[in-house]
Amino acid sequence: MTLTAVSKTQPDEAIDAILATGQRVFGENRVQEAQARWTERLSGLDGLELRLIGPLQTNKAEDAVVLFDVIETLDREKLARALAEAAQKRGRSPRVLVQVNTGAEPQKAGVLPEAAAALIETARRTYGLTVEGLMCIPPADQEAEPHFALLRDMAERNGLSVLSMGMSGDYETAIRCGATHVRVGTALFGERNRP
Ligand SMILES: *Cc1c(COP(=O)(O)O)cnc(C)c1O
Repeated sequence: MTLTAVSKTQPDEAIDAILATGQRVFGENRVQEAQARWTERLSGLDGLELRLIGPLQTNKAEDAVVLFDVIETLDREKLARALAEAAQKRGRSPRVLVQVNTGAEPQKAGVLPEAAAALIETARRTYGLTVEGLMCIPPADQEAEPHFALLRDMAERNGLSVLSMGMSGDYETAIRCGATHVRVGTALFGERNRP
């Protein structure tokens, strides 16, 4: 089980303090903010793994493949194509998770559960991406457990081993449901500054 420390909007001192404990896996939800924070730090740090956990626009795909080791938010074919082209151009191929909108919430990113298998297949076969797992953010007003269970079953059916699920409020449930990566921000850093 891997702890992804969600460092979005946190001040530099807070990140340095977590780095000093040996934490090396970090999640960011905006490409530009992550570039500003990590580009310089990267050169001095061995074993750092950066994971993009926020929505990605196709026009940021190149910046994303240069900076991130894992992109957790693939949710449409157009983005798969943009990532494949960016990887080719920049000579760097992050691993990918498919984000599933398990609650089918209209305002939320993620592929609908019934369309996930096709997207996984297309991302692998047509675009040659290394799809290693699934990610979800359950609806805020529902119990998380059925969503985590759905994601786990989908991963099993599609032969995927990585499950990124669980945040500060529900990571224990997620671990019980088989999470391999939990994304924890406030429980680790304290409240975020509003961007
Ligand atoms: C901000 C964020 C988190 C961390 O949320 P906390 O409740 O602060 O732990 C996890 N996942 C995603 C996708 C996020 O945007």
